[in-house]
Amino acid sequence: MKKIIIIGGGIAGLSAGIYSLQNGYEVALYEKNATPGGECTGWNRQGYHIDNCIHWLTGSTPANDLYPIWKNIGALTDDTTLYREPYFYCLHRDGKTLHFWSDPEKARAEFLEAAPEDSLEINKLFDHIRLSESVRVPCEKSLADMNLIEYLKFGMTMANMGKVINEYGNDTIADLAARFQNPLVREMITQYLHTSYKAITLLSSIGFYTGGSAAIPMGGSVGMIKRITDRFLSLGGKLYPNMPAINIKLDGHQAKSVSFADGSEVSCDFVICAADPAVTFDKLLPAKYMDKNLRKMYEIKEGYHVSSVFQISFGILGPEDCGLPCGSSVHPCEPYRVGKSDFDHIGIRLYDYDESLFPVDKRVILCNIPQEIADYEYWKTLHADRPRYLAEKEKIAEVIKHHICHLFPALENRLIILDTYSPYTFTKWCGAYKGAYMSFFEQKGYKSLTAKNSIRGLSNVFLASQWLSTNGGLPMAAVSGRFAAMKLMKKDKKISKSSRT
Ligand SMILES: Cc1cc2nc3c(=O)[nH]c(=O)nc-3n(C[C@H](O)[C@H](O)[C@H](O)COP(=O)(O)OP(=O)(O)OC[C@H]3O[C@@H](n4cnc5c(N)ncnc54)[C@H](O)[C@@H]3O)c2cc1C
Repeated sequence: MKKIIIIGGGIAGLSAGIYSLQNGYEVALYEKNATPGGECTGWNRQGYHIDNCIHWLTGSTPANDLYPIWKNIGALTDDTTLYREPYFYCLHRDGKTLHFWSDPEKARAEFLEAAPEDSLEINKLFDHIRLSESVRVPCEKSLADMNLIEYLKFGMTMANMGKVINEYGNDTIADLAARFQNPLVREMITQYLHTSYKAITLLSSIGFYTGGSAAIPMGGSVGMIKRITDRFLSLGGKLYPNMPAINIKLDGHQAKSVSFADGSEVSCDFVICAADPAVTFDKLLPAKYMDKNLRKMYEIKEGYHVSSVFQISFGILGPEDCGLPCGSSVHPCEPYRVGKSDFDHIGIRLYDYDESLFPVDKRVILCNIPQEIADYEYWKTLHADRPRYLAEKEKIAEVIKHHICHLFPALENRLIILDTYSPYTFTKWCGAYKGAYMSFFEQKGYKSLTAKNSIRGLSNVFLASQWLSTNGGLPMAAVSGRFAAMKLMKKDKKISKSSRT
């Protein structure tokens, strides 16, 4: 059996491992942390559970192309119960409320009632959200490897998106909001993503809910990672935690071995780099091997943005009702500052839907505060002065706690701060580029890009990561693992054939 070393045990690395094992390879997966999962993780604090990742897993219905992948890697099993949220998010202001309900007609009716003056644009928006439900992730072949005909064929499978692109393709979120006169509707639209991001990203995100593709598997992020890891191990994969790779040793156009921080060196036939590419091309391989599309995303800063979050989690004391809306809700509040950015809204998410993780007396609130690159740099610098870093995080947590208690007086004296983490935490944990937890978001006027899973100039090294495509997320990570394994097998067959002839 030929031996593959996989560097990085996130979703992409585990997926690459499972598909490689199923193709008959020996797989050794090396992960820098004590546990696999990467950004898809969760942990316990003071008897409460913090789910860091899954707000939504797209492709959770059998009709979706992603579904067989989730099933194959064990993310979803026949026993996995799925929770479908009633809405994507809602906005509460002065006793008025708007929801992006998962039932699009319910949402349309609510918007029309709140803003009859915008009926034309509201109807247009919800018609196009329905059309956006046709968005698909390529699961059979990477977009980077498709020829023109394959690309056009794939595009035809989501023909409805053409109409969405015609209507909103040139809009940013700010442009989309400006189509409406009603201030509540405008406020609602600008609260999910940075206003410079493409409007289509918002529409297709809502479309995942209205189309029924988004769900949360019970057991949360840790449950899902455990199922995937079990699948990997059951197929004979070997997992080596606490093993940061420091270098891939090259001999001409071939990788010969991988060396690790503990001084060991392991030889192999193939390597799949499933760490964040910012790690791969900074530490493991010379940057010259970076794919041209990936390089574009890093270099064209005005065209491809990354963002992160500052997060605070609170435990709720006691089982009594506290008046919080379920799921994700946004509320205006007094101005506050986090990093270098100012805010006048607070986004909170209540974790109460999974009894196994959040029993009624152990419910959790997570506040997710968007952060940009300037904020990341601020946190990175501050981190060097540990006492100040901790004090600043604590100060922000107290401010947010005050705002939440002001909004929901039934929570007064019932919130305990469980954890605070800055964008820099994601870099320390996973090596995340600028603390970003999704990939690059293409901006208005810039194309969505996909990088190849193979590396030009290296015959036996492959890449798997959410970062190979714009937008990223769990689906991109999982399919990129599959594509890396497919590419590797194809290359291996070619090498074997040429060595026979
Ligand atoms: C707060 C948050 C919420 C999110 N919510 C969602 C959601 O609701 N839906 C969704 O689809 N996505 C969500 N995501 C995004 C999702 O978690 C990521 O897209 C996905 O987990 C990325 O997987 P990956 O394998 O590409 O990368 P990673 O998870 O970064 O995995 C890379 C792995 O490589 C390891 N590594 C790094 N350097 C080395 C080294 N030198 N040697 C060995 N190992 C190394 C890292 O420790 C890590 O385990 C969220 C992310 C976060 C942080």
